[in-house]
Amino acid sequence: MDVQGIRKEFPLLDTKINGNPLVYLDNAATTQKPRVVTDALLDYYRTLNSNIHRGVHHLSQQATDAFEESREYVRLFMNAAKHEEIIFTKGTTEAINLVANGFARAFLKKGDRVLVTVSDHHSDFVPWQQACLQSGAEFDIMPVERDGTLDLALLEEKLALKPKLVAFPHISNGLGLENPASKITAMAHAQGAAVLVDGAQGIAHCRVDVRDIGCDFYCWSAHKIYGPTGIGVLYGRQEWLDKLPPYQFGGEMIEEVDLQQTTFAALPFKFEAGTPPIAEAITLKNALEFVESIGFDALREHEAQLTGLAIDGLRRIDGTEIYGKEEGHSGVVSFNIEGAYHYDIGVILDQLGIAVRTGHHCAQPLMKHLGIPGCVRASFAIYNTQEEVERLLSGVKKAAEMLR
Ligand code: PMP
Repeated sequence: MDVQGIRKEFPLLDTKINGNPLVYLDNAATTQKPRVVTDALLDYYRTLNSNIHRGVHHLSQQATDAFEESREYVRLFMNAAKHEEIIFTKGTTEAINLVANGFARAFLKKGDRVLVTVSDHHSDFVPWQQACLQSGAEFDIMPVERDGTLDLALLEEKLALKPKLVAFPHISNGLGLENPASKITAMAHAQGAAVLVDGAQGIAHCRVDVRDIGCDFYCWSAHKIYGPTGIGVLYGRQEWLDKLPPYQFGGEMIEEVDLQQTTFAALPFKFEAGTPPIAEAITLKNALEFVESIGFDALREHEAQLTGLAIDGLRRIDGTEIYGKEEGHSGVVSFNIEGAYHYDIGVILDQLGIAVRTGHHCAQPLMKHLGIPGCVRASFAIYNTQEEVERLLSGVKKAAEMLR
């Protein structure tokens, strides 16, 4: 793979931080954007800007076509069965809130259960916790093993308690471990539970096929996969989306408004109240085309190589503890150095131009489960290089010497 060629598509990577060339290893938080995306955003505002779905005029129709083409591209990208099953949202968080809110209002009641995992991001954990508090349903939490994996025998026991819904991350953002999504979904369905997959990390690191996974909902954000912020996707099986009540009310989502009551538009518009982020939705397609042009096989191989190098190197630094099982990290390495506070390591790395994330990574239940206040997380993307991993390792060595 021509990494140097790919890097040229990301001008921001040439930035210097504190006099050092930037090493951007905070990709699990958000990826940088290639020129095809930033150019397309500018082009949209220069040539196409118009509100969609309600104009008879030329620009509005063109913008509407581009918006719906992007939706269709997303459908194909995820192998969803129907155009109507792709709902544009602000991102993963809004997509999950949309489903959790609908479940709390329409399906959950006292005596019901919802099952999540302790490694869930707060964006998947808190909406379901709150939906349970509102509806009186039981909020059940699957622990993970010390190596971050799910014990499927224990899952079977939890599922025997007949939760109405099971939510889990496709790939956890704290440890970067992939859950066996199709297997978990089949097990949950066998017990009558609906399944929501938080795909915020999954979408950027593996080929997602929602029909193969078999899940009822799959949620993700464009900014994690080289696309713009402010736009994301809720995939939902039509049977569920038809039953779920609307999340927000307003323009675009109505069929007929009378003085005392309103009927709602058909899918997908029922869940898209108000003017959406049009430019972002359209240019999301450019981001996905960019990823397709590289291909998931090449992307996975490259990220696995960098992650492997980082894990090997970190193991050789005295006092380093790496979280999660030995292998199979999807572009994420989380670690601590004995005797050093994770935040201080991040500050020293930043002085060297190396951007990592420190803290609880919006996964406080997981950190508590691991018995740590937080950790350092380096996360890799398609444009990272082996030299950058080496710079990370020498930065961590330096931090270890300074802080211990
Ligand atoms: N779930 C996971 C696994 C994530 O990594 C993130 C982002 N860090 C989210 C949910 C939330 O995504 P967003 O902030 O784009 O809504």
